[in-house]
Formats: sequence, C-alpha cells, structure tokens
Amino acid sequence: MEDCVFCKIIAGQIPSDIVYHDKTVIAFKDIHPVTQVHLLIVPREHIAYLTDLTEKQSTLVGHMILVANELARQTGIAEKGFRVVINVGSEGGQMVPHLHLHLLGGRRLSEKMG
Ligand code: AMP
Ligand code: ZN
Repeated sequence: MEDCVFCKIIAGQIPSDIVYHDKTVIAFKDIHPVTQVHLLIVPREHIAYLTDLTEKQSTLVGHMILVANELARQTGIAEKGFRVVINVGSEGGQMVPHLHLHLLGGRRLSEKMG
C-alpha cells in the first residue's frame, strides 16, 4: 500500500527502531510511547483492519500474540504483567489503518479500558 506508513517501515522506506522481524511480522518501537515499553507488532501483509481478517489469516493473529509474549519476556515485563491492544476503526482509536498489536508495559497500567 503506497500511502501506508507501516508498509513504508516494512519496506525500509522510512526509519524505525525495529526490535524483531520474521517471515510474517515485524515489531518496532512506537514513535510516541505511552509506557516505558511500547512496541508495535505488525504483519508484513497490509491488512487494514482486524475486521478484514479472513479465516486463512487467523493464524497470523495467534503468531502476533506469541511474538508479543516473547518480546514481553525480552523486555523484562512478562513477569509483572503487560497489556496487548488492537484498536479497530475510528471509535476504537485506530489511527494507522494497517493491523497492529500494541505491547504495553513497564508500569502499573490504568484499570480503565474505555
Ligand atoms: P493506533 O492508534 O492503534 O492506530 O496506533 C498507531 C500507533 O502508531 C500510534 O501509537 C503511533 O504513535 C504509532 N506510529 C505512527 N507512526 C509511527 C512511526 N513512523 N513509527 C513508529 N510508530 C508510529
Ligand atoms: Zn500497510
């Protein structure tokens, strides 16, 4: 996708702080972190919204969660706890229309979900 900021990061066209990559996903530091650890786990394939996922792509989301677990261990937040978030659409707070999972941790997070 030409105008997609995450596709540009994946293509190496704009810089980012990549912390993990494999065949299907990459992970990089959020440019405006809201917690001490704030990583984005992003499929290489451009899928705009979670609601666009097909049955075939459902294993991808499981893989994204496993990568989040691994990165939580690597960044030292796994033991105390962390949060994973997927925002969907405008009312869900999704600013970048390329599916991504936020990994948040490093301090006690707000109990408020909405
Ligand atoms: P969302 O609101 O769920 O779509 O989250 C998009 C996230 O992407 C926000 O937390 C932004 O700070 C982050 N973001 C936007 N552009 C970049 C970028 N170039 N590099 C890293 N993170 C970015
Ligand atoms: Zn994209």
